[in-house]
Amino acid sequence: MPWPDSLWFLEIDLDPEKCRYEEKFKGLISFFKKINVSDYPEIKNYAEKYKIYMLRLDPVIEYFTSKVCPYCGTVCCRQKFALPNKEDMITFWALDIDIPNYDFKKDINSSCQFLSHTGCNLPRLYRPFRCTWYFCDALWLQIEINLSNFNIETGLKQLRSARDKLVSNFIKLIST
Ligand code: SF4
Ligand code: SF4
Repeated sequence: MPWPDSLWFLEIDLDPEKCRYEEKFKGLISFFKKINVSDYPEIKNYAEKYKIYMLRLDPVIEYFTSKVCPYCGTVCCRQKFALPNKEDMITFWALDIDIPNYDFKKDINSSCQFLSHTGCNLPRLYRPFRCTWYFCDALWLQIEINLSNFNIETGLKQLRSARDKLVSNFIKLIST
């Protein structure tokens, strides 16, 4: 039998650029508060894999962003990119992490509230997936030129696959 509110959950579109974002976000917080991830070992297992892949990639990506981003004239970190979508909320719940305190009053096109002079203040697992998945041309070029003993494309594929499985299994769980 589907979970209570599962239809509402399946239909909700959590997009920072669409209306009533804060209201929908708070609705999702309440939804996830009623579910204990420890009761779902299969989902927890996918979350652990996702975490391992993310933590493996983190120092590599950090190394290259530290080489390129401080010299960037068009920094890409905007407030709208810090705000999670529904898939990010599933991931946060599955990882059992405290969701960052977002400033909903901030203009979504202004600089991200978590951006400091040394880069992003949020640990990578607390950022929306898009923050890790985005590589501008300059960053990607820097990686391609300098990376020889670590296959970042394989790492990214593993990460994407773990996240997709985590999200699709959660959707299946609440739909049946
Ligand atoms: S990822 Fe690219 S666009 Fe974004 S801040 Fe770094 S260099 Fe600039
Ligand atoms: S990487 Fe960090 S600073 Fe940049 S948009 Fe994402 S959360 Fe904000």
